[in-house]
Amino acid sequence: MYNSIICRYHEIATKGNNRNMFERCLVDNIAHLLREVGVCRVHRVRGRIWVNRVDGGAFSSSEMEAILPQLAKAFGLESFSPAVRLPVEMDAIREAAVAMAPEVLGAAMEKRDNVTFRVRARRSNKRFPLRSQEIEIDLVSAIAERLGERRFKLDLDHAEITLGCEVRDEFAALFWTSLPGPGGLPVGSNPRVLTLLSGGIDSPVAAWMVMKRGCPTDYITFHSSPYTPPETEEKVRRLARHLNEWQIRGKLHLCNLAPLQKLIRDCCNERMRTVLYRRAMLRIAEQVALRSDCRALVTGEAVGQVASQTINNMNTINRAVDMLVLRPLVGADKNESIRIAEAIGTMELSCIPAPDSCTVFAPSSPATSVPLELAEAEERKIPEYSAVIEKIIADIVTEA
Ligand code: ATP
Ligand code: MG
Repeated sequence: MYNSIICRYHEIATKGNNRNMFERCLVDNIAHLLREVGVCRVHRVRGRIWVNRVDGGAFSSSEMEAILPQLAKAFGLESFSPAVRLPVEMDAIREAAVAMAPEVLGAAMEKRDNVTFRVRARRSNKRFPLRSQEIEIDLVSAIAERLGERRFKLDLDHAEITLGCEVRDEFAALFWTSLPGPGGLPVGSNPRVLTLLSGGIDSPVAAWMVMKRGCPTDYITFHSSPYTPPETEEKVRRLARHLNEWQIRGKLHLCNLAPLQKLIRDCCNERMRTVLYRRAMLRIAEQVALRSDCRALVTGEAVGQVASQTINNMNTINRAVDMLVLRPLVGADKNESIRIAEAIGTMELSCIPAPDSCTVFAPSSPATSVPLELAEAEERKIPEYSAVIEKIIADIVTEA
């Protein structure tokens, strides 16, 4: 019966000059998310985005089942509702409300008594003869009459079932549910960033969180072939593919750090290896970001989680680059990251066993506080450090 979906977004994000860009971005993203459903037309009408069937007809239930989970991935959306679009006439609105009431409200009332109900009307069309409250009263009375003996309880504040009614200039709409969107800002409303994506739990969550704030992301992963198996890369490929469901596909750069790791093993203090690996990762990532117009780096670091994430070590690692490094999980407990990872479906992939590049030649007791000067001194012991980094960058394999 539904021939439309109302998509709502926060007005706050759409103030001023940004409004047009924000809305266009959201419309494009929704169209992209629904590309495989095929039959949808997405367009905006003052303050709302509407998804209709191209032919104006009703969506089948299988089409609706395909559409709704996709809309739940459209960052920027506050909520959305399957709706019936109608002419701007009270008779048509009433008739449709009465026709739908048995299936939704009537069905709930059959299961138990005292179901609470209300109608919420919004009239942006000021030429419509009834005011919002009058529309509500009209619809409640008509529905009460239709349902006859079986009674619902009116509750204007906490109703279990709400019938929404919007009367706009061009059309009216009725809807019975409001599903939560993911919030945030449309991906693409902020500049592109580069996420350092490991096969762990945190970095996929970090990538998701920056996308939620409007940044499309590319990914870079470090492996240590042949010391890590191809499964290490494959795991990250799967994570990147999964994360790309929230954005128009980001590129994945696969980088083999092993040549440098061997030099660090042979030339440097063993306890500083992890910090030196990390500084190299950031340096390489910064170069890749500069070459692909990414404006910040993103990591899944959280303060104090492991030896390389003490404040002192994070500082020493950070000083390897000039570029802004975003750490969306900086204050998160592992449990909080896990909860998000489960909700977005990356947890399952992160749990696939595969060795991490950082564990190659990893010291049994890593230093928890490496001063910057010491790290720099260790790096000077590596012959042709910069040339090695350049060679590693030249050998990066990029998958679109
Ligand atoms: P994660 O669960 O994301 O691996 P973690 O808690 O295991 O994080 P570390 O392994 O110390 O912490 O990594 C900290 C951050 O450094 C990661 O979140 C990621 O952004 C980056 N990183 C670590 N290893 C790699 C790698 N092999 N490839 C790309 N990025 C990495
Ligand atoms: Mg890790």
